[in-house]
Amino acid sequence: MSVLGLSDDEQDLQARAADISRTIVRPRAAEIDRTGAYPWDIVDVLKSNGFMGMTIPRAYGGQGRSWLDTVLVIEAMARSCTVTARIVVEANMGAISTVMAYGTEDQKRRAAALVLAGDKPAICITEPDAGSDATGMTTIARKVGNRFVINGRKHWITGGGISRLHLIFARVLDESGDDLGIGGFLAIKDEAKGLTVTKREPTMGLRGMPEGELTFQDLEITPDMVLLPPSGFRRGFADLMNAYNSQRVGAGTVAMGIAAGALDLARDWALQRDQFGRPIAEFQGLQWMLADMQVQLTASRLMLYAAARSRGPNGSAFPDPDLAAQAKILASEAAIKIVNDALQIYGARGYSNDYPLERMARDVRMFTIGGGTAQVLRTLVASKVLGMKLPQTRDGYLPRAAE
Ligand code: FAD
Repeated sequence: MSVLGLSDDEQDLQARAADISRTIVRPRAAEIDRTGAYPWDIVDVLKSNGFMGMTIPRAYGGQGRSWLDTVLVIEAMARSCTVTARIVVEANMGAISTVMAYGTEDQKRRAAALVLAGDKPAICITEPDAGSDATGMTTIARKVGNRFVINGRKHWITGGGISRLHLIFARVLDESGDDLGIGGFLAIKDEAKGLTVTKREPTMGLRGMPEGELTFQDLEITPDMVLLPPSGFRRGFADLMNAYNSQRVGAGTVAMGIAAGALDLARDWALQRDQFGRPIAEFQGLQWMLADMQVQLTASRLMLYAAARSRGPNGSAFPDPDLAAQAKILASEAAIKIVNDALQIYGARGYSNDYPLERMARDVRMFTIGGGTAQVLRTLVASKVLGMKLPQTRDGYLPRAAE
């Protein structure tokens, strides 16, 4: 058992992932950033090492591994390459875990086969006019006979253009136009007609991972592709979003892993760089910076591991929403600060494309935005602290929690 409570098996997995990260992934990271090309060669490495679909139950060909196992692999990859770490997040959490929790047998088999073959599924929630306020979405799934027809537009969809399996959230209308709530629908690119990638978003960082705008024009969903949680459409959105808590822990871990990599670089540089006739590591100003970076990193890691081990209420298979939100806030904000300080310790070289820190500083900036902004997650945490629904939500102000 390690000092952070990791079992021998977990430490073995961690060491194996760290070795692959260092020897195969790290040498590719700068080029992935420079070209912006999705790293299919790295996907093959992840696949052959069992890191794609590791949370998929054995019955569907996966390994039935835990959220914590996945977190350990994500952290190891993020130390070298953020894009690779994000592939591990999305090939084990998010859309695939939603299908595994709520899908039919057939849906689970099909989704598992895609991921185990190397697909990183896409989860499609955000729209140009519905970001934090996801329930304001206007993409419509209209019931026509026994099918649904989807029309609308999503943007900032990770994997837009390379993902095959898409989990699309849309407002459901029955044949008479009555609003049934928000539902989840599965579509497979190249099989479904009416799903088009209409733009690749130009991004500050994370450049090998395409962020796409998707347009749905009369996208037909057959009954076997409707992802219906046990509570049906009316309350199903909450179930579907509950699955997002695994992704949230994953995203926080990517940020933490980038920070861990940045701290390693800063430490090594502080020991090797001489100024005023001695290594800069001998200056107490930098020692205290490094110490603060370590404290923040350890706190983030502990909270993320705890969130990965936790389970939400009512028999949920997913991490606790409150702990997942707190962990993502802490880890994403701490990581931005740690990477920025590491860049400072590197001096001018930190600002150069010849060294990894400027890439890491661009990459890490995303994690207080995607997957629930730091502000919206604070709303979630505050509502738990106060036992109130807060006025910043679409439900408006209620003096006491209604449920
Ligand atoms: P807005 O909601 O417009 O927010 C603007 C600002 O207002 C933010 O600072 C926000 O915190 C603040 N704000 C909003 N509401 C409140 C409130 N109630 N209280 C306090 N402050 C508030 N989406 C997907 O569906 N699938 C993906 O795969 C995906 N991948 C992404 C990848 C990247 C790299 C990025 C950057 C985004 C991705 N997103 C994805 C979208 C992401 O989830 C949204 O950007 C996010 O939810 C915020 O929405 P918004 O950008 O429209 O900002």
